[in-house]
Amino acid sequence: MSRSFNFCAGPAALPEPVLEIAREDMLNWHGCGLSFMEMSHRSPEVVGVAEHAERTLRKLLSITDDYAVLFLQGGASTQFSAVPLNLLGDSLGADYVNTGQWSKKAIAEAKRFGAVNVVASSEETQFSTIPDPQLWQLDSDAAYLHFTPNETIGGVEFSWVPQVNVPLVGDMSSTILSRPVAVEEYGAIYAGAQKNIGPAGLTLVIVRRDLLGKAHALCPAMLNWQTADENDSMYNTPPTFSLYLAALVFDWLEEQGGLTAMEVLNRRKAEKLYTAIDSSDFYANPVELASRSLMNIPFTLADANLDKAFLSESEAAGLLNLKGHRSVGGMRASVYNAVPEAAVDALIAFMQGFEARHG
Ligand SMILES: *Cc1c(COP(=O)(O)O)cnc(C)c1O
Repeated sequence: MSRSFNFCAGPAALPEPVLEIAREDMLNWHGCGLSFMEMSHRSPEVVGVAEHAERTLRKLLSITDDYAVLFLQGGASTQFSAVPLNLLGDSLGADYVNTGQWSKKAIAEAKRFGAVNVVASSEETQFSTIPDPQLWQLDSDAAYLHFTPNETIGGVEFSWVPQVNVPLVGDMSSTILSRPVAVEEYGAIYAGAQKNIGPAGLTLVIVRRDLLGKAHALCPAMLNWQTADENDSMYNTPPTFSLYLAALVFDWLEEQGGLTAMEVLNRRKAEKLYTAIDSSDFYANPVELASRSLMNIPFTLADANLDKAFLSESEAAGLLNLKGHRSVGGMRASVYNAVPEAAVDALIAFMQGFEARHG
């Protein structure tokens, strides 16, 4: 059976070797006589996998003991509430950078809990730029500054880390593990798993320990990072199967040479695709050069009437999920870690053929 190339923005492609191990393990995990999904989360087997996942992730991202690593649920969207609930403390509000649809959602949620100071917005450029940091209107009393390092929908990515005097919080859902990150520059990092970590259902939070312990009195236990930390992310039943698959993905990343090797590969994949788009009058990408995403590459066709044909012909060619987000239109190729270079090559060949037939 041949598998297609999957450019879905999320839930996204998983490494094929990981899926093969999962198939092997499915009915009888490591000779235990049952599948991993059927085991108690208090069993030494499941606890062992959770500990292995954390150890490998700490190695991949060089996370020191100054940081807690939490495996949670509810997706990145739940963290839009958990961030202010855990970090506002006695402060009246926090700073937010607005660079796209995910920033906007984080801002809307934070407004329930405190004053949100939008330090800068790129809405007037249709989110095709990153606002110049010289012009940000920072609030020195802000509890933290929140930003979205990679906007999954607009395909716009920070190529630098904001330097501010308050804890930096990043929604890394669609960029985590795509390249090395200087975790020590952040107060907290969070990510839904279903783009570059594993299957949906798992949410990662990395938080500097000195920021724990000031959750709002009304913060639900399930959103309280300190509660999660004190219970080794097992305050309630964790999504054990997602955690098991994430652990396999982390092992796979180590085998690939870690995040430095992934960055080299990801840059090569992205550069090939952007070059193909830029060298044609038939395709276009609206994002300013310095802020183009390595992971999510939107592009439009010169004639939007051809969108339907592009999508049906690409699908027939085994290139799946290229439709752009409904708020943007056009196409979007998400080329996360698990999307092989061969998929990008196949997409470019298809795009050139489509242009020759329809252009
Ligand atoms: C996908 C995504 C989200 C939403 O994630 P859920 O896990 O579905 O809540 C939030 N932020 C970014 C940057 C994303 O890419």
